[in-house]
Amino acid sequence: MPQPRQASVSAAAGYEWRLFAETEAHLYRRALLAPDLYWPPMLLAWCEEVRQDPLGHERTAIGAERIAAPSAAIRCARCGGLLRDANAAARGEGVRGGQA
Ligand SMILES: [Zn+2]
Repeated sequence: MPQPRQASVSAAAGYEWRLFAETEAHLYRRALLAPDLYWPPMLLAWCEEVRQDPLGHERTAIGAERIAAPSAAIRCARCGGLLRDANAAARGEGVRGGQA
């Protein structure tokens, strides 16, 4: 009997939604969001990590609370696309290059 294919952990597991500038939600690396971690002073949203000239966000501009499921009105489309692609890749499906 064939073994079920082992699903790998999605890269998205390392990110969580936070509100930036109280207007839009982006995905940030969990490891860099720890409140007792003072370095780096600027955080990159996932959508910025993949850009050639990424723009950092000041920590003080990023909301303190994780957002479980941001509404479409505030959710960054590029971060959402990266999330979907990472989850698809973890399931062994093809990716679409981070497009929303
Ligand atoms: Zn984003």
